[in-house]
Amino acid sequence: MCGIIGIIAKRPVAPELLAGLKRLEYRGYDSAGIATLICGRIERYRAEGKLTNLAARLHGEPVLGTIGIGHTRWATHGQPTERNAHPIATDRVAVVHNGIIENFQALKRELTGLDYAFQTDTDTEAVTVLTTHHLAQGLRPAQAVARTLERLEGAFALLFLFAGEHDLLICARRGSPLAIGYGNGEMFVGSDSLALAPLSRRITYLDEGDWAVVTSGKITIYDRANQLVQRELVESVLSGAPIGKGNYRHFMQKEIFEQPTVIGDTLRALIDPASRTVKLPDLPFALGDIGRIAIIACGTSWHTGLVGKILARRPGAHPGRD
Ligand code: GLU
Repeated sequence: MCGIIGIIAKRPVAPELLAGLKRLEYRGYDSAGIATLICGRIERYRAEGKLTNLAARLHGEPVLGTIGIGHTRWATHGQPTERNAHPIATDRVAVVHNGIIENFQALKRELTGLDYAFQTDTDTEAVTVLTTHHLAQGLRPAQAVARTLERLEGAFALLFLFAGEHDLLICARRGSPLAIGYGNGEMFVGSDSLALAPLSRRITYLDEGDWAVVTSGKITIYDRANQLVQRELVESVLSGAPIGKGNYRHFMQKEIFEQPTVIGDTLRALIDPASRTVKLPDLPFALGDIGRIAIIACGTSWHTGLVGKILARRPGAHPGRD
């Protein structure tokens, strides 16, 4: 599962894009990249493999753009090479994408027929080139994206950056979550609230099918029928502190060592030490009314589920079915 981050700020955004991608590392990825605007031009920095490679690429090269997008890619179409790494861009628009564009081949054929050339093996490039085509027809960025979204099939989250537009990001959600964080005269877009944790705690989640026009002062959200909609603003409780890898060698090691704390925290929320009893939250139904429980899990959680199954079984019930 890839990671997406976007920032409109008053200061150079490259270091924070990189830090945001670092917080999304836990999702796994094979390559990474960022794009910013320098004098209105789209500039990209991409690298195969770990974020340290991207950081090395950026090292010693002051990237001064105050707007930008970043991506950790988990390749579905095309090798995990620098050429296929996101952002995928033309001279007019750069796109980062999570998910799959099912009809990319048909779109690619259509656009090749209109003399557009493709540089990558990704499905994402069909989105980039189609939007470029709409811009070339004279549409404003928001209209161009709306027109592009109408043509896309599949499940995705998309984030667009436009040449010459220092105060504009457009994002869209179909099947893959996206969160927008409010700052003080700044705005942030991310795959989840973890990505945004230290940047903003005031967050709006896009609903399925929504797309949003984001500027430093305003977020305008449209639903899939292009109708203006309001979405709730929520306060995130995440601080960003527990998200990194810390001193652990990898995330799995971190998870293993964090188990005692996590179990302790979970139990502390449910056990009353004074009465030594378990205090379950008020449920909107009676536990005794439940006829069947389905536990869906794999790996370690599957084993946990098996233990849960034994614990939850009614005395005398059939072992395989209860
Ligand atoms: N399908 C896109 C690609 O292969 C995006 C993959 C992802 O979600 O990272 O480039």
